[in-house]
Amino acid sequence: MTIKTTTPSSNGIKVLLIYTGGTIGMLENPITKGLEVCDFAYVAEHVQEISQLPFGIDTLTFEPPCDSSDAGTDLWVQIAEMVTKYYDAYDGFVVLHGTDTMAYTASGLSFMFENLGKPIILTGSQVPIGKLRTDGKENLLTALEVAASKDSEGRAAVNEVCILFNNNLIRGNRATKVSADQFNAFQSPNYHNLAEIGIEIDFNHHSMLPHPTSPLTTHTKLDTNVLLLKLFPGLSPEVIDACFNAPGLRGIVLETFGSGNAPSNERFMKVVREAVARDIVIVNVTQCPQGKVQMKRYETGRTLLSAGVLSGYDMTAEAAVAKLMYLLGLLQDSEQVKHYMGVNLRGEFSPF
Ligand code: ASP
Repeated sequence: MTIKTTTPSSNGIKVLLIYTGGTIGMLENPITKGLEVCDFAYVAEHVQEISQLPFGIDTLTFEPPCDSSDAGTDLWVQIAEMVTKYYDAYDGFVVLHGTDTMAYTASGLSFMFENLGKPIILTGSQVPIGKLRTDGKENLLTALEVAASKDSEGRAAVNEVCILFNNNLIRGNRATKVSADQFNAFQSPNYHNLAEIGIEIDFNHHSMLPHPTSPLTTHTKLDTNVLLLKLFPGLSPEVIDACFNAPGLRGIVLETFGSGNAPSNERFMKVVREAVARDIVIVNVTQCPQGKVQMKRYETGRTLLSAGVLSGYDMTAEAAVAKLMYLLGLLQDSEQVKHYMGVNLRGEFSPF
């Protein structure tokens, strides 16, 4: 992978634009009519306006670019390694990525970078850049502006992994994809947006993570032996048992009802207790689009708590999965993993 200079800098600021794929760079296959990923030259050709920006932009294309539904955590690692390699050479980073799994990648990256001092802004589009009504051009230009922005002290205006979509600047581990077909595809249901974006970009500095005082550390070891299971009435304990007994399983994110409730019957609870006894870390997040887990509120939640299930507070399922992968990759001792699941590491849950 080689870096290409797309536009030179006239103000000394430089942004690295990493293209991984997604709808933004897709073209319709004339035979199947399905959308297929194209190379970055196709994207650049349709956003000539980037040459008018005062800061410099270099580009890096992942080969082959992919539909993000095909992406695994190896893509997160690749992005993390590239950003780390070029961290000192750029003021900020923009990652073009498919929308389908963007919230997972953003969550993963947020944990993988400790003491991040620069912006990593993920964006993409719902309509390919070559289409007249594309949302890709505006998303890309705004993401670049955000990545190049400085605060009054000359530091990066944003020192977080974020998703920029439809003028919403969202902390990456708070984002979730809420629409398969609207331009307003991402929301942050439990935390403020990090900027008001209109004619001006007004950053909500009070809502952002503090600037780090230690150098960046990148963690690329992830343990993917985790399961995300959404409960529903009638889910059979035998099916749950089979899932919970999958070889190598180390962590489970349980998407429960309401404020963290699950069936309290003995058959279900036995499966949960046995998993906890096998050192599997179980984290409770709500399947409600908004709100938090409060396991002491109902008896059905208390039963989970007494079985050793951890609260995921108001974390998104994406953030809980990514945090588990990160902690299980970092730590062998499941007691330590459990401890850090309850520590707010990157602003992924609200303190209660
Ligand atoms: N399937 C596409 C992807 O995630 C959807 C998109 O980019 O909007 O790569």
